[in-house]
Amino acid sequence: MPSQPALPRHVLVLNCGSSSLKFAILDALTSEEIISGLAERLGSSTPLIKYKYQGVKKQIELEANQAHGAAIDTLVALINDHHLADHLIAVGHRVVHGGEHFTQSVLIDDDVIKGITQAATLAPLHGHANLLGISSAQASFKGLPQIAVFDTAFHQTMEKTAYLYALPYKLYTDYGVRRYGFHGTSHFYVAEQTAKLLNQSIEHSNFISAHLGNGCSVCAIKNGKSVDTSMGLTPLEGLMMGTRSGDIDPGLFNFLTTQLDYSAQQIDDLLNKQSGLLGISELSNDCRTIEEAAVAGNEKAILALDMFCYRLAKQIAAFMVPLQRLDALIFTGGIGENSDIIRAKVIAQLSFLGLDCDNTANLAARFSKQGIISSTAANVKAVVMPTNEEWVIALDAATIAQEH
Ligand code: AMP
Repeated sequence: MPSQPALPRHVLVLNCGSSSLKFAILDALTSEEIISGLAERLGSSTPLIKYKYQGVKKQIELEANQAHGAAIDTLVALINDHHLADHLIAVGHRVVHGGEHFTQSVLIDDDVIKGITQAATLAPLHGHANLLGISSAQASFKGLPQIAVFDTAFHQTMEKTAYLYALPYKLYTDYGVRRYGFHGTSHFYVAEQTAKLLNQSIEHSNFISAHLGNGCSVCAIKNGKSVDTSMGLTPLEGLMMGTRSGDIDPGLFNFLTTQLDYSAQQIDDLLNKQSGLLGISELSNDCRTIEEAAVAGNEKAILALDMFCYRLAKQIAAFMVPLQRLDALIFTGGIGENSDIIRAKVIAQLSFLGLDCDNTANLAARFSKQGIISSTAANVKAVVMPTNEEWVIALDAATIAQEH
């Protein structure tokens, strides 16, 4: 994490998805949230902005088909109405794909836009939304420095052995086909916070962090650096997720196209939107719904949870190869921070690594939201650590803005 700026400064953090825009103004020094909200269903017949200011939740309906530009215009009006512009020193953009070019956060200029545009070929949906967010914000906040913070940057320390696919080498050199990894801001943040919690230096800490939200990934962090992670060229690889399949046999493509007449788009939809917890449970992608159904005896919900935990435990165990020694397993993201059931199930399968689960501490984390959930006897600590990607983006943006 960058060193904290000397004065309380406000940063507008923008996170553009293909049809959504998450925003917040944070005090980069204290992490205090001044205003936050979500514009959703952008480009549809019913776009909407929901936001929270001074504890009060409100919503604004946009006109049919209005998209990111209109959402940012409305956001600018909101900022002006509440006199929030005076303290703003920067806009921080979460950019999903930075390719190999971006190993850290940067001030956005024409070259950076070119680099992001190039990387966008690897993740077109996210990339184009990010670029749209940047150009709209540049038009609306003319005097403010704009900073890009990349989801992939933290993983640029991986070695070739970890990031290459066993494909013809030219696909890597000519087209950048390799593993990049995502959720980097989150893995970085929770690792730093866990080192503080355990009172040890991040440079001498080996952690595995499990970011479990709608998207899920695991990261092996050796002496503070990412050495491997479960997501790859896109966020589809690796763990079973809410609606994403995670790892599958690539031979499935041939089967689906030749036997079932699937198009490339249908396969993409199947793997990204209809699989994972939703695909197996045939119920929901929402972990809470599945846990409730599992407790009530729904067999597919039980299977979905068991598969989720088994695959996660298997991936964590595999990361012992690059790490060799593990100090702590970190749970974060909506599921990691809140599901004591999943944490207990995963840890139970990893006892051979020296992990255990203190049931009282695991349940107490529901309320404390943070802490060690393994017993004092455990050789490897299990930790719950809430992520705060917005704050990392705000801190990076504030630091870079002050340097320029
Ligand atoms: P995120 O993408 O980080 O917001 O996480 C979303 C996921 O967290 C969804 O699958 C939610 O069902 C899950 N989640 C949130 N709260 C809980 C909870 N109390 N128990 C289990 N899962 C939860």
